[in-house]
Amino acid sequence: MIAEVIVDITHSNVDKVYDYGITEGMNVSVGDRVVLPFGYQKIEGFVINTKEKTEVPLGKLKNVLEVLDDIPPLLPETLELAKFVSKKYHALQSEVLRLMIPSQMRGGKVRELYKNFVKQCDIEYGDAVKLIRANAKNQLGLIDAVWSGEKDYTMLADSYGYGALKALQEKNIIEIVQEQVSRVPYEFMETNKQTFKLTDSQQKAVDVISNTEKTVTLVFGVTGSGKTEIYMNLFEQAKAQGKSSIMLVPEIALTPQMVSVLRSRFDDEVAIIHSGLSAGERFDEWWRIRKGEAKIVVGARSAIFSPTENLGVIVIDEEHETSYVSESSPRYNTFEVAKERARISGAKVVLGSATPSIESYHNALNGDYELVEISDRVNKKAMPKFDVVDMKREVKGGNQSVISGYLKDEIESCLNDGNQSILFLNRRGFASFLQCEECGYVCKCNSCDVSLTYHKDEHALKCHYCGQKYVVPRICPECQGKHFKRGGVGTETVVNELQKLFPDSRILRMDNDTTTTKESHNNILQAFRKGQADILVGTQMVAKGHDFPSVTLVGIVNADMSLYFSDFRSGERTFQLITQVAGRAGRGDKAGKVVLQTYSPHHFIYNFAIKYDYKQFYEYEVNARKITSFPPFADIVRIMIYGEYEQKVRSVTRMIYNNMLDLKKNEDKTFSYFNGMKSPIKRIENKFRYQVIARLEGEKREEVIEKIYHIVEKFRENGVVSYVEINPNSMF
Ligand code: ADP
Ligand code: ZN
Repeated sequence: MIAEVIVDITHSNVDKVYDYGITEGMNVSVGDRVVLPFGYQKIEGFVINTKEKTEVPLGKLKNVLEVLDDIPPLLPETLELAKFVSKKYHALQSEVLRLMIPSQMRGGKVRELYKNFVKQCDIEYGDAVKLIRANAKNQLGLIDAVWSGEKDYTMLADSYGYGALKALQEKNIIEIVQEQVSRVPYEFMETNKQTFKLTDSQQKAVDVISNTEKTVTLVFGVTGSGKTEIYMNLFEQAKAQGKSSIMLVPEIALTPQMVSVLRSRFDDEVAIIHSGLSAGERFDEWWRIRKGEAKIVVGARSAIFSPTENLGVIVIDEEHETSYVSESSPRYNTFEVAKERARISGAKVVLGSATPSIESYHNALNGDYELVEISDRVNKKAMPKFDVVDMKREVKGGNQSVISGYLKDEIESCLNDGNQSILFLNRRGFASFLQCEECGYVCKCNSCDVSLTYHKDEHALKCHYCGQKYVVPRICPECQGKHFKRGGVGTETVVNELQKLFPDSRILRMDNDTTTTKESHNNILQAFRKGQADILVGTQMVAKGHDFPSVTLVGIVNADMSLYFSDFRSGERTFQLITQVAGRAGRGDKAGKVVLQTYSPHHFIYNFAIKYDYKQFYEYEVNARKITSFPPFADIVRIMIYGEYEQKVRSVTRMIYNNMLDLKKNEDKTFSYFNGMKSPIKRIENKFRYQVIARLEGEKREEVIEKIYHIVEKFRENGVVSYVEINPNSMF
């Protein structure tokens, strides 16, 4: 027998299938991890196929040395998925296979954890006691403990001593056995058993998803419409049919909450996969899934590669979130991977959001996806009402604070009523832009209609879209004002101001600085949930998914920041963010309220958002995209090229550019935009960055994208990294 093997080395030179012989009697299956002789070393590899014959001459054929696991870690499903991913995104096969199994398994860095347990032998309690001297208190105590069910060796040794354990072992009263124990993430998390009768809308959603012929269903349900309950019902259905489920959440930060909810319903049938777990936890959770002990997997995007057999449903919650597109190699799009996975396994994909991405809603409207809409909250509570505060007036009225007089009053009455409030700051606020102090005007690019980013080192403004550079204006083109300020307010500033305004209030801060460890994030949320603070100040992290029933006030401190961000998705992001943050208010019995602070109180995005009018917003946005040729009507292809030596980077960029220009000549209809330039951030970690950008439209998009990948691969050069991104989230 011959094994076809991918070696676990991520280098394009060895990115091919190697044949290895299998020694008589050695059991090698497809999906196994194996040890191989490779050159002068021993390396690990993955068996992707077995066959009878090989072209490799007998004298040259080497044999598999060892099989590493009891059962093949890779399933036929995940192997097929790996093939798809490596082909679609032109990624190395080894690199893709590494997505399929936890990195801790490679090189045998982590193994199962075994612990000692105490078991009673086949002997009656009375007979056992008779064997012990009456004054051997420890031994007698130990017998009592073991007979009452205690098994933990370490605990028994602590209480009764190793001597007692040894004595009873020698008398054949107990035996000490080694058993594998699972390292369980969030082991002591609180759960809250409760079941609900589904509302009519929830039941309808479940029925539609179960009965539709379509693979993908978009559940467009307002915040608080009970989407999680719908998902859990689908998981129950899958379970009843012996099938497994995968539930994806946009970021690690949201897993603890989801785990708690899922465990309340499904106990230890839930497994967690994400990069924040300890190596041991990850290893054990992964094997629990692979062995079918856990049938419901929850995790961030990489959980789509979980070794679940017989998959029934994949849920992608908060589907509009950008984190579903991987920004490191392999650069995969989770939706595309989920759809392929569903195709392979005959599973269904459910996308959930209160603010679907333009692309998804577009697909739902044109019939590619099934659509379920839920426009009421579970408890029929009204959506929280918006109050818009014009910050220009605030400034004119002499208030220099980031907290308007109106918001201050609202916080005060919220405090007086004993309720909680959340103040949200846009993390994009940290990106610098220039804003007129008088009227709030932000400098924009002439040809792209996106705002410009201020580059301090050059004292210039730049468009991160087309690369155009502008001088900093002396006079505001809107109001002739002479003073510009640099945008960007941090959470710390807000906390300080709050402390001055409300010295007695208890304030929690949550942002990237305060959530550096795996637990800290969860701790802050738990503390807030338990009412240990009155006000939670935070960035994007506080916006999403959380269900805090006693929050009645949400303050959006700097709403405008994402509007000024140089991106065609700025409007969409702003709408989503505002709706999501607002959705944190009034989830309990008391009505909620949202205060939105802005310099552009009449901006059309806000007009849509404060009415919760997603459809109007969608109509507007999708038309704009159509006219300007942006996704979903076009694909943006960015080729990023970077390296230490600028000359080399430039020359690779030029070659790629020229070849793409030739391609464009033949496919001119497909290219709606084409350019090459320095990247907006010219240098990161001493590497020079260049980019070539194309926008493609029409039926030949896919074909042209393939050709672009080939061009980029043709000009690989040592010391220069180049890669292709399709519709990237960030253009820096
Ligand atoms: P969404 O994800 O749509 O924002 P959630 O799933 O967080 O909404 O649900 C909002 C709240 O409603 C949760 O506290 C949940 O426990 C509760 N809930 C969900 N379904 C029901 C139901 N059928 N009856 C009563 N309460 C429900
Ligand atoms: Zn521009």
